[in-house]
Amino acid sequence: CRAVCPTGAITIKQNVGAVWRALADNNTRVVVQIAPAVRVAIGDKFGIKKGENVLGRLVAALRRIGFDEIYDTNFGADLTVMEESKELVERLESGENLPLFTSCCPAWVKFCEKKYPEFRKNISTCRSPQEMFGALIKEEARMNAKKDTRKTMVISIMPCTAKKSEITRPEHFTDGEQNVDYVLTTTEVTRMIQEAGIDLAQVKPEALDMPFGIASGAGAIFGVTGGVTEAVLRRLVNSNKVEDLEAISFTGVRGVDGIKEAKVQLGDREVRIAVVNGLQSASEVLDQMKAGEVNYDFVEVMACKRGCIAGGGQPVPIGPRTKKARLEGLYKIDNLAQIKLSNQNPIVMTAYDGILKGKEHKLLHNEYSAGE
Ligand code: SF4
Repeated sequence: CRAVCPTGAITIKQNVGAVWRALADNNTRVVVQIAPAVRVAIGDKFGIKKGENVLGRLVAALRRIGFDEIYDTNFGADLTVMEESKELVERLESGENLPLFTSCCPAWVKFCEKKYPEFRKNISTCRSPQEMFGALIKEEARMNAKKDTRKTMVISIMPCTAKKSEITRPEHFTDGEQNVDYVLTTTEVTRMIQEAGIDLAQVKPEALDMPFGIASGAGAIFGVTGGVTEAVLRRLVNSNKVEDLEAISFTGVRGVDGIKEAKVQLGDREVRIAVVNGLQSASEVLDQMKAGEVNYDFVEVMACKRGCIAGGGQPVPIGPRTKKARLEGLYKIDNLAQIKLSNQNPIVMTAYDGILKGKEHKLLHNEYSAGE
């Protein structure tokens, strides 16, 4: 049976009340996805060691609360890697709209659109991992509508408050429908778990649901600055030999500096990369680009310093020790992952041969920067 809000506190601020109501409705299928950076932060409020990956405990708690299907946004991140690496290769070949700017951080996208509109065309058309995942689930629901008459609702658990506005942007809608219905921050979910009387530290870990519970290590590192770049480079180098993976991690994309530069040889082309950590550093890079002082092919920007591990929806305080522990927690997930490359995720490849076939653009891309 489904759980309902144990305290009757339906009017909990932000989206918690709406999610409790959906959980209480037997005619709604509630699907939830968990972002990479959430799993190494939510343990903080339950006295669990900082940076520990508590994904299994979180899954168990969400199942007890009443979510119908629990999946991994890292799967969506694998899709983003597939599409963004394809887009980079296309732009390198055509020479148009370079550098390619990453699009998975909505605060950065908004900043670029407002302050540097001349660079709008450089922003990747790829939807963010939560949006790609949501579009996939909603498409699956549309296809199965005759078999399953319940309404499908997609909830994202995100480290980020900007993700709440990302889902309402019309460019992210598919066939006029929102891909993700509600975003809950890590802090909001912490409160739901506490209100349900669950102590995460005491819960026995459980596995994610199939099929979208399988993700590569490349998807996991999306939560740290430099992670998107490293994941895309892995896909393009397309090798899972330890020495090749280490070579990518040593190019300079890891680390916490405001602006990191790297050069990577892809075939006969040297690709120039900048990894930008925080919006102040983004301004510096864009000003230098405008002045013709620097030249790149690929630029990753995350608005929060050190990336989503320190997002505005994460438990506080987030001092240097906490940030370091969360960052190490995500790299540890990657180290232990059996699948390192997004294109080696068997469920990703099955999706491309099935539900995504011929619909890649419709489901995985936005229109806002295309062709302008
Ligand atoms: Fe959100 Fe910050 Fe991550 Fe950007 S870097 S997606 S603003 S948490």
